[in-house]
Amino acid sequence: MRTSQVPLNTVKETPADAEIASHQLMIRAGLIRKLAAGLYSWLPLGLRVLRKVEKITREEMEKAGALEVLMPALQPAELWQETGRWQHYGPELARLKDRHERDFCLGPTHEEIITDLARHELKSYKQLPITYYQIQTKFRDEIRPRFGVMRCREFIMKDAYSFHTSQESLQETYDVMYTAYSNIFDKLGLNYRAVIADSGSIGGAVSHEFHVIADSGEDAIAFSTGSDYAANVESATALLEEQVIAAPSEAYAKVATPTQKTIAEISEFLNVPAQKILKTLAIVKMERDAEGVVIKEAFYNLFLRGDHELNEIKTRKIIGEFRLATDAEIIAHHGCIAGFLGPKLDAKYPCLFDHAVKNLSDFVCGANEEGFHLRGCQWTNDVKTNAFYQQALADNAFYDLRNVVAGDKSPDGKGEITLARGIEVGHIFQLGTKYSASMKAGIINEAGKSQIMIMGCYGIGISRVVAAAIEQNHDARGIIWSAKLAPFQVALLPMNMHKSERLKLATEKLYADLVAAGIDVLFDDRKVRAGFMFSDMELIGIPHSIIISDRGLDDETLEYKARTATDNEIIPSVGVIEFLKAKLA
Ligand code: ATP
Ligand code: MG
Repeated sequence: MRTSQVPLNTVKETPADAEIASHQLMIRAGLIRKLAAGLYSWLPLGLRVLRKVEKITREEMEKAGALEVLMPALQPAELWQETGRWQHYGPELARLKDRHERDFCLGPTHEEIITDLARHELKSYKQLPITYYQIQTKFRDEIRPRFGVMRCREFIMKDAYSFHTSQESLQETYDVMYTAYSNIFDKLGLNYRAVIADSGSIGGAVSHEFHVIADSGEDAIAFSTGSDYAANVESATALLEEQVIAAPSEAYAKVATPTQKTIAEISEFLNVPAQKILKTLAIVKMERDAEGVVIKEAFYNLFLRGDHELNEIKTRKIIGEFRLATDAEIIAHHGCIAGFLGPKLDAKYPCLFDHAVKNLSDFVCGANEEGFHLRGCQWTNDVKTNAFYQQALADNAFYDLRNVVAGDKSPDGKGEITLARGIEVGHIFQLGTKYSASMKAGIINEAGKSQIMIMGCYGIGISRVVAAAIEQNHDARGIIWSAKLAPFQVALLPMNMHKSERLKLATEKLYADLVAAGIDVLFDDRKVRAGFMFSDMELIGIPHSIIISDRGLDDETLEYKARTATDNEIIPSVGVIEFLKAKLA
């Protein structure tokens, strides 16, 4: 194609709301344009990249034996009511009414729709296992759409769903999909990791996320240095330390901490490391009725080591939905303001401890009195704390409540945990019967009996992949596409063609030859300065450039430049097609 046909909508200015490189570069290179918060149009150049991601994904889905379908974006509320998600999905679900006042939503995902399709289309075990997939627009009214197409409200997803009569069959398809996903991200040339994940609101037990490793990633990923253990920090675990409590070395004392409330403030004020401070969190567990209305609230205290962060997802799995208690609630229930709470023997509410708290000695904790902390605490030196600790042991109240940190032991005992940032580009789940049971999606099994189908589901954020690829591959001058993703493989750049008829003819000839050879080439036929041309091609990230000039015509040479190279290479004009084909192979 020619730049006169595909106008390059490059812009100089970095948009004010673009915080990360991929967002800035997608706007500057003219791949996308913002319509409103979290809504983007894809310009021709961007769409070419998006289509390439789709193509590779489609090829691998077909190879994995999945069948392509296309389901509506507009979904009737009845199906979501059947699974209970109409109540539970929350404000991310874009709900609307049709002209007859019937409830609908714009699909954020398609479990309900595919399960409805399957319960009508699938009758017998003989039709299973079967996997359907689609590449389709999803809507999520994200609380904070940001980073361009990385987290937007309307985006393209590849979603696939499989149906089985047994867990073994689900595991087989899950493994096939895991391999297909690895193939897709390999082909896309991305540095990625598959990690153990939490299955979130979609449900199910086993799940993996695929993350593109990038500093700007919104997720923290934990890896082991000594094994292939890798998990999202949301669900990563560490090997439990043995219970060894160091011998006390400090005197027990109540100390004034007049304004010191946070772990950092107390640590500094008392000159005690955060890992020697007991953190007390007052929370409120909530229970809702079928309509989603909160009907019951209960107070809990959580105890963690001061340097550890509460992991809300793990905690939610233990006690259910909860929120942090407000200051007013803390005063009302604990008789003390937040920041000075600690273990209390006569606590009238359940107390949950993180495992790491077991080994504390010489620690600091709140005195349950405004302006005071206790230091030199041992679980054993004071009657009250000891009784409290013994109670916790008796109640078996120790749980995994925290995020893993660098240096923790890997849960398989091999190596240590290190942390990296990742962008979630794919997610696969073993759903089990979560949707098929509530929607009564059954088939007749081999024994002639009706049986609820077992399901898996598999998503890839097609549009997010484009942004993630840029996030991982760019430099100060612009995007660096891998050959498989680039909107064009080769840029053909004539120098001052508009001043030389001979050059024009030669460039047209070379362009025709390249096209005939099946090379995806962008011929820059604009009447612009060479420097301008180069910087545009670098910004949009075309991997290979061929520069043709009058001087080169005299010498029968061309110049070649790889996007990642600093210097041009002089190459003979003869054999340029083979030269490029070798580069593109
Ligand atoms: P996230 O935690 O990033 O919100 P998710 O867990 O909600 O993602 P899934 O429901 O697993 O995402 O959706 C499948 C894939 O769709 C994700 O792996 C991600 O690549 C993509 N995706 C999800 N939400 C968005 C969004 N708002 N914008 C763009 N892509 C998204
Ligand atoms: Mg999400």
